[in-house]
Amino acid sequence: MPKLPCPACGFSIEVAISRAGSEVACPSCEKIISVPKLGELRRLAADADAPPSPAVAGGTPIGLRAAFACLIGIAAIAAVFGGYCLVRFASIPKPPTTADHLAEVETVYPQLAAAQLVREWQTMESFTEAFAHPYEYQMVANVRRGWLVRGLIGLGIAAALTIAAAVMMRTSRRPT
Ligand SMILES: [Zn+2]
Repeated sequence: MPKLPCPACGFSIEVAISRAGSEVACPSCEKIISVPKLGELRRLAADADAPPSPAVAGGTPIGLRAAFACLIGIAAIAAVFGGYCLVRFASIPKPPTTADHLAEVETVYPQLAAAQLVREWQTMESFTEAFAHPYEYQMVANVRRGWLVRGLIGLGIAAALTIAAAVMMRTSRRPT
């Protein structure tokens, strides 16, 4: 049945096709409104019977669904990236710390003979330039920390985007 919006109160009035060209009283505000001619009325009937616009599926606009899918997609990529970084982090055994290194030096050096200490000193001297750079265990520690930080950032972004997508869907579903 065609539905006619009341110009006064907005109430949706069901009008029989047979009333085309006549007048009806709005059931809500009782104002007398004129019913359009048959052609216009048939068009209104078609609109009323038509399924919801394709732009709306499941009550959610397609643009919003696309944005949701996009957020979830990026979140998934961030999660995979974060997971990969954490695996790389876990695959590097924990290197000794500077404290460990100093403890080792303190334990080993007193046991060395004088000749061995001299040789150690000569080795150190040949590396004088290289001493400006960190020891290998320090570089390993830096690389390892880098993977951990990237992993946590990746998972953090994934979590934030997932929450944002969930909030977006929840907000859009709330009746206005
Ligand atoms: Zn009315």
